[in-house]
Amino acid sequence: MADLAITNAIILTADALGTRLEGGTMLVENGRIAAIGTNAEFGDAAENATSVIDARGMLVMPGLINTHCHIASTLFRGLVEDLPLEPWLQRIWKAEAAILDPKTTHLGSLLGLAEMALGGVTTVMDMFWHPHDTVRAAREVGMRISTGGIVFDAPGVTGHTVERRFEDADRFFQDFKDAADVIPAIMPHGAYTVAPDNLKRARALADRHGGLFCTHAAETRFEVDDITSRYGRSVIRHLDHLGLLDERAVLAHCVHLDSEEIEILARTGAKPSHNPVSNLKLASGIAPVPEMLEAGITVSLGTDGAVSGNDLDLWLAMRLAAMLHKGVRGDARLVSTQQALAMATLAGAETLGVSDRIGSLEVGKEADFIMIDLERAHAVPLFDPLTHAVFSTNKSDVRHVFVGGKQIVRDRELTGIVLSEVIAEIRELAPRIQASIA
Ligand SMILES: [Zn+2]
Repeated sequence: MADLAITNAIILTADALGTRLEGGTMLVENGRIAAIGTNAEFGDAAENATSVIDARGMLVMPGLINTHCHIASTLFRGLVEDLPLEPWLQRIWKAEAAILDPKTTHLGSLLGLAEMALGGVTTVMDMFWHPHDTVRAAREVGMRISTGGIVFDAPGVTGHTVERRFEDADRFFQDFKDAADVIPAIMPHGAYTVAPDNLKRARALADRHGGLFCTHAAETRFEVDDITSRYGRSVIRHLDHLGLLDERAVLAHCVHLDSEEIEILARTGAKPSHNPVSNLKLASGIAPVPEMLEAGITVSLGTDGAVSGNDLDLWLAMRLAAMLHKGVRGDARLVSTQQALAMATLAGAETLGVSDRIGSLEVGKEADFIMIDLERAHAVPLFDPLTHAVFSTNKSDVRHVFVGGKQIVRDRELTGIVLSEVIAEIRELAPRIQASIA
């Protein structure tokens, strides 16, 4: 007998075939999708489930997957504005150094995770200080997370030596190697902040633990020029030359690539995370997403931190991914609606190496799904649920969210934490944050 039955739903499975169902039923057992089909196929099996949700007026689809974030940077949202990336980073890093410790990182993580969970994100890849504390926050909210130790040559927020950072990264891999809700990774910040030997060492550590290797890459023109003048190769060539790229490498941004670098990504299987909101706001440029997709590269979507995009809205990222490239190239066929949805779901799961478990609604996968309210002025008439999901849906339409069959958002309220308490604590901390950049 199923633990949960979702009945009478419009279901957008986001599987590779683009399967969708009207009058659909999905059965969940032991946290996994046990069956999915039309109401008529199930009858009693759905009615006899321990719990039944009548999803009339709702769209059911997989939880969104955000493959690039700095979650606890929600603490610094709106603090530094209207500067190019490099001087902007210097100011943000000053504030981070003054404010961040395990406690404030946990608090900022709760805030960011709350925003994402309420907005339909069920899995996120995070690069930030104190990753153990971010995992703790993700578990309280009930989300899946991919993260791990940061590698950064300078003392940074923690003031730790590089040696200590590698020890911490190693411990993170060990601590979470068997966790179902954590996808362990190592997070060297970027080729401009981490020396080649340390990048290689990070890669070796990821390999030893079978984990992911995630770094920023080719985000700005300045970065490309800097790396080229230092090492005689552009960023992607540099990473490839060091032997860092394979199918378990996640590269945030990939804005400034030439055609040979796109070939390198295709050949190695490295996976770019497209962050259109951040790239636009920081004037970093526009990633060659149509060319990457054309080359068969798996492109997923990220919000980047709330300091660079001001919110953690993957719907906006998806919509921009679908529209931006059409607009700037003058070609409405670029990045199809189906491709945009895949970038926010299945491609995200592939990027994190877990597409056998999540990313689409298919029998045997874990029941990570969201229920979108269709009783909205912008949801009628509904000729095509795919188009609705990509171009008309926004965060506030998300009514219920499930991760592994467990409900983490019920009627737009978190079930794991009390958001008003988090907000009160953040407000109390805000004056200290403001003073940190004075
Ligand atoms: Zn970033």
